[in-house]
Amino acid sequence: MTTSKPKSHGRKSIRPTLTPTSLMDETPDLVGIWQARVVTLFPDTFPGVLGASLTGKALQEGKWQLHTHDLRAHGVGKHRNVDDTPAGGGAGMVLRADVVGAALAEAQAHARGRWPILYMSPRGRPFDQGMARDLARCDGVTMLCGRFEGVDERVLDEFGVTEVSIGDFVMTGGEIAAQAMLDATVRLLPGVLGNAESAVEESHSNGLLEHPQYTRPATWEGRDIPEVLMSGNHGKIKAWRQEQSESLTQARRPDLWAKRTTK
Ligand code: SAH
Repeated sequence: MTTSKPKSHGRKSIRPTLTPTSLMDETPDLVGIWQARVVTLFPDTFPGVLGASLTGKALQEGKWQLHTHDLRAHGVGKHRNVDDTPAGGGAGMVLRADVVGAALAEAQAHARGRWPILYMSPRGRPFDQGMARDLARCDGVTMLCGRFEGVDERVLDEFGVTEVSIGDFVMTGGEIAAQAMLDATVRLLPGVLGNAESAVEESHSNGLLEHPQYTRPATWEGRDIPEVLMSGNHGKIKAWRQEQSESLTQARRPDLWAKRTTK
């Protein structure tokens, strides 16, 4: 018998729903919904900043799903150890291959279709808008957040993990990197950005940095908004913005400019 009526168990009335009561509640894997699985020693740091604003609203509305896998739950022994000293000596601790492997296997049990495994790593390929676009076209992603000196290399080889960096600096853990990459990716999913235009014309979408932006008041501290923007001449405005974009990119990011002009 099928019924849409809420099922009653004792005093509690339970209605099956796809809307989680909290952003991080375990919800069923939804076909066609982009999903992130994050392996971390600090699951409490999620959704973190992703719970705010557009990414948070989209999470609430089920436009994407986020789940964490706690490395500690896979730790060994009474103390659930997750790390050990580096083979060959040296400072710090390394996350164990067996522990990380078990957590990754748990995450991958949910993987379907195109679903890369990324390791947040300062040795990795620098993350960029193109990678965000590509990730948004996948069915989901598993992200491994390192801590201490990183993870045992064998687990990266075993799972065919891709190392990705958010820049040439070293943080204490991969959680901020994962949130940065997820933010950049989730905002590209259909229906997440309010104004579909804003993902088309922004920095990096066309290999250029964005032109300067202004809003009211028209005069502030003796500074006026450039006259062309107040002219109402859309052709002129478009040309001005393009010219600003190009000169900014040339001045600030000769590397981007070179890539663009040699193509
Ligand atoms: N010993 C490592 C650094 C470990 S930093 C090395 O020299 O390469 C600890 C963890 O923080 C890493 O495992 C990684 O998950 C994360 N992390 C640090 N800096 C990062 C960056 N720039 N991008 C992505 N993840 C980073």
